[in-house]
Amino acid sequence: MRDDAAGARALRAVGLRVTQPRLAVLGAVRAHAHATTDELIVAARTHLAPLSHQAVYDVLRVLTESGLVRRIQPQGSVARYEARVGDNHHHLVCRGCGGITDVDCAVGAAPCLAPGHPVDGTGFVVDEAEITFWGLCAACAAAAHPSDTPPVPTREADR
Ligand SMILES: [Zn+2]
Ligand SMILES: [Zn+2]
Repeated sequence: MRDDAAGARALRAVGLRVTQPRLAVLGAVRAHAHATTDELIVAARTHLAPLSHQAVYDVLRVLTESGLVRRIQPQGSVARYEARVGDNHHHLVCRGCGGITDVDCAVGAAPCLAPGHPVDGTGFVVDEAEITFWGLCAACAAAAHPSDTPPVPTREADR
C-alpha cells in the first residue's frame, strides 16, 4: 500500500521498527487531524482489525515520543493527535462545538512569542510558546446570533 510505504519510511527515519500496529495508527493520525484516541482506534481498525485499545494507546505514546505525532489537549478536551509536526503551528479552538483548526505560526519556529516581562534573572530558558486561540467558529458564531443578518457589503459612496 502506498500509504504504508510512506509510513514505514517515517518510522525508520526516527529509528522505530516498522510494525503493522504502528503503520495502522500512524496512517489513522495522518488521515484524521486532531482526532481523539477513540476516533483513532476506529480508524486504525479499518486497516488492522484485531487492534486492541491498549495497543493503540501504546503506539500513540511511542509515536508522540518519537516526534512523528504531536499530542495536543486543549482545556476541557480529551487528548488529540496530529501528524503535522515540526512547523510550530497553533490552534483555533471553538468554544461552541470544540472544533480545532490549524493556524500557521507567523514566525514558523519556536518560540514565536516571548514573555512580556523579561525572564532574565530567573534562569528560565523559553523554547516554546504553546498557543491556543479560543473563540467561535463561523457556524457557531452564526448560531449564537441568529437574528444578525449577514454583513452586507456597503460602499462608502452609497451612504
Ligand atoms: Zn464551532
Ligand atoms: Zn494542528
